[in-house]
Amino acid sequence: MSNPAPGPLETVRTFVNTLDLDDGIELLGTPAELAAWLGAHGLAGAGEVDATAADLRRAIELREALRAHLLAHHDQPLAPGAAGTLDVAAHRARLTVRFRGSDETALEPEEGGVDGALGRLLAIVAQAIADGTWQRLKVCPADTCQWAFYDASRNRSAVWCDMRVCGNRAKVRGFRERTRTGDGGDAGTRKNG
Ligand SMILES: [Zn+2]
Repeated sequence: MSNPAPGPLETVRTFVNTLDLDDGIELLGTPAELAAWLGAHGLAGAGEVDATAADLRRAIELREALRAHLLAHHDQPLAPGAAGTLDVAAHRARLTVRFRGSDETALEPEEGGVDGALGRLLAIVAQAIADGTWQRLKVCPADTCQWAFYDASRNRSAVWCDMRVCGNRAKVRGFRERTRTGDGGDAGTRKNG
């Protein structure tokens, strides 16, 4: 459906896409589904974590804060509170710098369980910020889509998840809005200009 992100960053992209708005699919619908997902994606040992309803709520909150960051990668301001949500999750995971050999560091959670697993996700984000790939991870700005994709274009200019689908939809919608005049019927449906 869209370009994978390089290396472990693909896990972050997949996490954000556990909600598929276009098809109305929520992969993290229950605590058990969250625990299974974290195990299946190498963020926790398979069958090792037990998730609670509170864990699930925090995981969804983190996912949506990550989505806000990816939306901001379209040179838009970051939604208020989104960075703070990442801070709180990093704190809960007790992310700690580990020194490896003479010139290598890694961020690792001291906490276990779901908090630790989400901390591993944030360690991937921190690494992507450091190596410059983070800015290329974006979400499609179409309200009905919000799909995370990796922008591999040379000048980092990709906007839609897939030009053949959302880009065209947006063009058609824009055309309809431009040609519909005077009926006032859709005045409240446009979120931004
Ligand atoms: Zn899209």
